[in-house]
Amino acid sequence: MPIFGKTKFSTVNYDKTTPTAAMPSLEDSENPQEGFTKCRSCESPILIEELVANSSICPKCDYHFPLRAMDRINSLMTDFEEIDANMQSVNFLGFTGYDKTLTSKQMTLDTKDAVICGFGKIKGQKTGIVVMDFKFMGGSLGSVVGEKITRLVEAATEKRLPVIIVTASGGARMQEGCVSLMQMAKTSGALARLSNNDLPMICLLTNPTYGGVTASYASLGDIIISEPNALIGFAGARVIETTIKAELPENFQTAEFLVDHGLVDRIVHREQLQDELALILDYVSGKCK
Ligand SMILES: [Zn+2]
Repeated sequence: MPIFGKTKFSTVNYDKTTPTAAMPSLEDSENPQEGFTKCRSCESPILIEELVANSSICPKCDYHFPLRAMDRINSLMTDFEEIDANMQSVNFLGFTGYDKTLTSKQMTLDTKDAVICGFGKIKGQKTGIVVMDFKFMGGSLGSVVGEKITRLVEAATEKRLPVIIVTASGGARMQEGCVSLMQMAKTSGALARLSNNDLPMICLLTNPTYGGVTASYASLGDIIISEPNALIGFAGARVIETTIKAELPENFQTAEFLVDHGLVDRIVHREQLQDELALILDYVSGKCK
């Protein structure tokens, strides 16, 4: 069983190009000194080693740094077996620069696209799991992400297992046009069939979850939990403010705001996630194998 303090997390520095108005906290942190990074929330310098030992959570202010998909899986599961690991997108619209971006991300990030799917055990309970990787093109939902999630959900339905979906995304992948939007309907359809078979889906929303992902599977969980202070929404706050020309409430689009307004069921600290997910699985897996 992975123990948080002993799990090796990668340090994460996100692209400056990824989303947008709502997410000022995702700017690249500067490295003032070798071996240090800066907290994106309280701006304290943190020894990277200390951050890694602390589950990538700021020891000063409790800010949850984003996790790479495989680090997340290792922090939650044992016996993980990935499916469709080699599925990759093609530039079917001839979008300028898309091939180059895909190739460079695949080479530098050691993953073929923005999601990892598979089966494993959380404290001995078998489950399907989908984990998005924000570092790969902002966790954008394209044809491969949609197809991999759909296949995982269909396989879980076949095996009569629950599904956990961990989101981190800026929304649909613009380079794939309407095909990326079609993934919203496709994944939702597969999840409807899972539900019709009396099988549960649990969502874990992490910072940030936006756009077409929020508008499809991220909102379809039987139980929806979130990490503290995660930003979750459809359009970004600044876009909304400019459009409706009104001041938005304090904490708008934070997980805490969404718990108060009914979209999120519960906020769970990263260090309690494995226990909490095991408990939820125990509650809801009555009709699973
Ligand atoms: Zn901090």
